[in-house]
Amino acid sequence: MHEAIKPGQIIRVSDRVRRITAPNSGPMTGAGTNTYLVGQESIAVIDPGPADPSHIDAILAACGDKLRWILATHTHADHSPAAATLAETTGAVVMGNKLSHNDGFQDDSFAPEKSLAHDECWATEEFTLRALHTPGHVNNHLCFLVEQDGLLLTGDHIMQGSTVVIIPPHGNMKDYLQSLKLLLDYPLQALGPGHGQIIDNPVKEIEGLIEHRLKRETKVLSKLNNTGPVDLDRLTVQVYDDVDASLHPVARYSLWAHLLKLEQEGRARLDKDQWSLITND
Ligand SMILES: [Zn+2]
Repeated sequence: MHEAIKPGQIIRVSDRVRRITAPNSGPMTGAGTNTYLVGQESIAVIDPGPADPSHIDAILAACGDKLRWILATHTHADHSPAAATLAETTGAVVMGNKLSHNDGFQDDSFAPEKSLAHDECWATEEFTLRALHTPGHVNNHLCFLVEQDGLLLTGDHIMQGSTVVIIPPHGNMKDYLQSLKLLLDYPLQALGPGHGQIIDNPVKEIEGLIEHRLKRETKVLSKLNNTGPVDLDRLTVQVYDDVDASLHPVARYSLWAHLLKLEQEGRARLDKDQWSLITND
C-alpha cells in the first residue's frame, strides 16, 4: 500500500508527475491538498493549494526556475490561492476557469490569464496535458489528463478516502454523474486526486462512485415515499442514518443536490419548504 501522506514531502507518482501535499489537513481536506508537478524541464503545477508560505516554498524549491504554468482544477480556497504568489515570483502563466459569482466558498484572488475549454490540450517535449471540463462538485471544475502516463489529476471531482460534497447551486448532482461517466471515455491508468493517495483502478473506482450516488438516490426516493412531504433537515436525518450526525450539515448539501436532480427530472417537487415525490397515478 501507499505510504502515509506527509505535508511538504516530494513524492513521485508517475513517470512525469510529482506530488507535494499542503499542510492543511482537516475534516474536509483529508491529509491536505495535493499539488501536482507535471514535467521536469518545463513544469506545470496543478492545484497550487492554499497560500501557505511553507507550501509555496516547497513548490518553488521543487521547481527551481522551471515553473511555466499554474493550473487550478477549481477555485475553492484549498486549491487555488497559492497561484497569485507563485505567478508573481516566477512569471508562470495562470490558467483555469472562474465562476460567474462567489457563493462564499470561492477564491477571489484567482486571476487566470487564460481560461480552458473542454478537451483543450497542450504539449511540451515531455508531456501532453488535456483539460476535461467536469462540472458537478462545482461547475468550473476541470480534471487534467497527463496523456503519456494515463494519469488523471481529478481535483475534487474524485477524492480518495471520502465522498465529494456537492453544494448547489454551483454544485450539481446531475452534472456530477455525467462528468463521472465522461471519464470512462478516456484511457486512464490511474487517478491523482486533490486529496488522498493515487487510485490504481480508475474504471472500478469511477463505476463504484456512480453506483454509490445512484444507491443514495434510490434511498432518497424510498424515504420520500415513506415520509410524505418533508423538509430538508428531517430528510437528511433519514437519508443519512448510516452517517455520523456530525457530518449531517455537510450531507445536507449533497441531499439538496440529489433533490434538485430529481426535481429537474420531474420525479420530486418542492412546495413551501416541503419535498415530496411526484407519482404517476
Ligand atoms: Zn472543492
